[in-house]
Amino acid sequence: VKNKLQILNSDNQGRFSTALHAFPKKSEILTGNPYAYAFTKRFASHICAWTLEVFDKPLQIYCSHCKEVYYESEENRANGFAYHHQECRAFQKIHAYPLNSSYKMLMKTLCRAVIRKAWEQGLSKQTQIQKCNKTQLKYLEIIEVPPTWDKNLKWKHFESLVSNRDQYGILRFNARKRLAERLVKAMPALILEYAFPKSDAEDIIDQLAEAICRYECNCFGYFSPKGDQTGAAVIPGISFINHSCAPNSDSIFYFPGGSITIQALRDIPEGEEITITYCDLSLNKKDRQKYLKHNYFFDCQCLRCVPPKKLK
Ligand SMILES: [Zn+2]
Ligand SMILES: [Zn+2]
Repeated sequence: VKNKLQILNSDNQGRFSTALHAFPKKSEILTGNPYAYAFTKRFASHICAWTLEVFDKPLQIYCSHCKEVYYESEENRANGFAYHHQECRAFQKIHAYPLNSSYKMLMKTLCRAVIRKAWEQGLSKQTQIQKCNKTQLKYLEIIEVPPTWDKNLKWKHFESLVSNRDQYGILRFNARKRLAERLVKAMPALILEYAFPKSDAEDIIDQLAEAICRYECNCFGYFSPKGDQTGAAVIPGISFINHSCAPNSDSIFYFPGGSITIQALRDIPEGEEITITYCDLSLNKKDRQKYLKHNYFFDCQCLRCVPPKKLK
């Protein structure tokens, strides 16, 4: 980012980034790795949860408790268990909630983000107790985190993204609080203790409700070649790229790893703002503006929405 883009702040549009040099069509502008991600139930069976490699045929090895994560090999399942047992019960509970697929992905992504936060704050060094089959106590040490984790990425990077919480309004924010309460109920107490030390229950719910807003304003989708959504991720390193209904760049994702690259759609001259789209560009102007206002809280001022006035 340092020698490719300049990130600036403006009073009316927040952070934005301009090209420090020209980018030819199809060139890579920047790439970001996910801080946390989740997949639809259907797609989960086609991706190894340990390596994030995608397969054409459904995988046959999976976690029998939650049936939410699949592995390419027994070895990967064994490696993955030290990490996965942290989220397994939470995933089972989230799956049982009467929520649509998008909200389930949101909950699972945030569950993983909070586990990472706990891990950053020392959970990995601890031996912890996990109850198995209600009676049996099992001691597990978390030594392995998924190899796809970019260890330079931290919760503070996710937290630095805009949440627009003040613009949600009380009713919409309270709905996020109710989701946060469910997430708290689903997650292991130990994780929450590590992730939110010295916070009381109300404070944790408030922080998670804001994290939900932050996810909603910043998440990127993964899609199948047919265009169906297969997952979602928070990718702090590219989240400051603004929207335009006539964008000069596109986001392209790569597996294994789930990174997203911002690629130039056309030749971009030095000094031009880098933009991608946040909405379906086949919508008409009224519907685009309505969608952007409702979800991202801004009035789009792009050249397609506000064409330059003709000189008389
Ligand atoms: Zn599981
Ligand atoms: Zn626009």
